[in-house]
Amino acid sequence: MPHTGSDSHPLRVAILGSGPAAFYAAEHLLKQTGLAIEVDMFDRLPTPFGLVRGGVAPDHLKIKTVTKTFDHIATQPRFRFYGGVEFGRDLTLDDLKHLYHQIVYATGAQTDRRMGIPGEDLQGSHPATEFVAWYNGHPDYRHYQFDLSQERAAVVGVGNVAIDVARLLCRTREELLATDIADYVLEALSRSNIKEVYLLGRRGPAQAAFTNPEIKEVGEMAGADVFTLPEETQWDELSRAALEANPDRATTKKVEILQGYALRTLRATGKSRKLFIRFLVSPVEIIGDEQGRVKTLRLVKNVLAASESGALSAKATDQYEELPVGLVFRSVGYRGVPLPGVPFHERWGVILNEKGRVIDPDTKQPVVGQYAAGWIKRGPTGVIGTNKPDAVETVNAMLEDLRQGVMLQPVQPEAACVDDLLRQRQPNFFTYPDWQKLDALEVERGQAQDRPRVKFTSVEEMLKALGR
Ligand code: NAP
Repeated sequence: MPHTGSDSHPLRVAILGSGPAAFYAAEHLLKQTGLAIEVDMFDRLPTPFGLVRGGVAPDHLKIKTVTKTFDHIATQPRFRFYGGVEFGRDLTLDDLKHLYHQIVYATGAQTDRRMGIPGEDLQGSHPATEFVAWYNGHPDYRHYQFDLSQERAAVVGVGNVAIDVARLLCRTREELLATDIADYVLEALSRSNIKEVYLLGRRGPAQAAFTNPEIKEVGEMAGADVFTLPEETQWDELSRAALEANPDRATTKKVEILQGYALRTLRATGKSRKLFIRFLVSPVEIIGDEQGRVKTLRLVKNVLAASESGALSAKATDQYEELPVGLVFRSVGYRGVPLPGVPFHERWGVILNEKGRVIDPDTKQPVVGQYAAGWIKRGPTGVIGTNKPDAVETVNAMLEDLRQGVMLQPVQPEAACVDDLLRQRQPNFFTYPDWQKLDALEVERGQAQDRPRVKFTSVEEMLKALGR
C-alpha cells in the first residue's frame, strides 16, 4: 500500500483559521518536496487573512501587503479555501477526523481580557477588540455602537492595540480617507466629538509594550498633539538598574521619545485633539451616571516594585485621581476562545500544546493528528512575522509525526468528499476565487472614491456582489 504523502495517497490537512499563522503553516506544508500534501483552509468568515484584515489598523496599509505572500500560497494547486464555514456549526471535529490525516487549529485569540474592576460593564465601556473589529468592518461587529458624541475617551493599556485605538480616535477625516477603514466608520469618526484621548499605562515608560515606530507615529498626526507628563516619563531607579543589567537601545529610545512629548507645551499647538499618554496609573473603578453611562474613571497612582526574579510590577499607592471620560476602551490583551472538543488551557487562554502538538490535559500525551499554530498556540504576542517560525515549528512536528506514521485514519481522505459534505451543511461557502473577485471589487469601489479599498462588511453584500 502506498504511503501517506505519496501522489496517489496525499497527506490531507485541514487548517482552521486563515490568518498569518494559518497561511505560514500552509506555505511550509506545500513547499515540502517529495511529499504530496493537500491543504484545506477553513474560516468562519467569508474572507481570508484573519487579523490582517480584521485587526491591523486601517491606516497601516503597508503591513497589509503581506497578503500578497498569502495570495501566492493560495494559488497553489493543492490549496483550497473554504470561507463562511464555522467549526462546531458547519463542520465538527468528527467530520474533520473523517476527512483529514491532520488538523491544525490557527484560530487566533478572538476575545479580550478583562480588567476585573467595578463598572467594567457600564454603557460606554468597551473592549478594544470590539472597536478594532468595528472599524475594520468585521461582519459580526458592524452594528456595534460607540458613543462618539463624548469629548473624552480613555484607553487602558499601553500596547500596540491601545496605540491603534487611540490613533484612530485622533485621526482627521482627510487622514482616514487614505485608509481602508469601513465606510460607516469613516462617517462616524468624521462626525466624532472626541477632543481628548488618555492612554493609560500601569507601569512606567520603559515597560510600555508599544513599539517605537508606533509611538513615533502618534507624534506625527495631522489633527492631534501628544503629551506626556515629565514626572511620569523620567527614569526611575529600578528601571535604570534593569536597563543597565540588560542594555537595550530600543527601550532607551522609547523613553527618549516619550520624554520628548513631555516637552511639548499645551499652548504651543493649534491642533484640535489631544492625546495624553499617562504612566504609573491603574483604573480601580469606572463610575457611571444615573443612566448607567460611563462618567469617570477612578485611577490609583502606582510605583514600580521589583520581584525576586527582578521583574518590575506596578504597586498601588494610596493616592487616587479621577479622570472624567465618557468612553473607556480596555486594551489589556486578547484572549483565545476554546474550540468544541479541543483541549483548552483556561488560565492561559490557549490550546494546551507542546511545540504545536495538542496535549491531552489528563494524560499529558499528544493528541494524535491535532496541532495548533499562532496566537491560539502561544498567546496573543508578537507581530505578523512572529507567526512564521511559530507555524514552521508546528509543521515540523506534523512532518515528524507523519514519518513515524502517527496520524488520524480518515475514512474519506478525498478532496471531493469535503465539497459533498459542505454542499449539504453550508452550500453558501466561499472559495478563494470568490475572495479574489470580492477583493477586486473592493479595490474598484475604493478607486471610485479615491480610497485604497472600500470593504464589503456583511455576508449578504458579499453574496450579492458574487451574484449569489
Ligand atoms: P500587549 O502588547 O500585551 O499589551 C497589553 C497592555 O495591557 C500592556 O501595556 C499591559 O501592561 C497592559 N495591561 C494588561 N493588564 C492590565 C491591567 N489589568 N491594567 C492595566 N493595564 C494592563 O497586547 P496588545 O496591545 O493587545 O497587542 C497584542 C500583540 O499584537 C502585541 O504583540 C502587539 O505588539 C501586536 N500588535 C502589533 C501591532 C503593530 O505592529 N503595529 C499592532 C497591534 C498589535 P503590562 O505590561 O504592565 O502588563
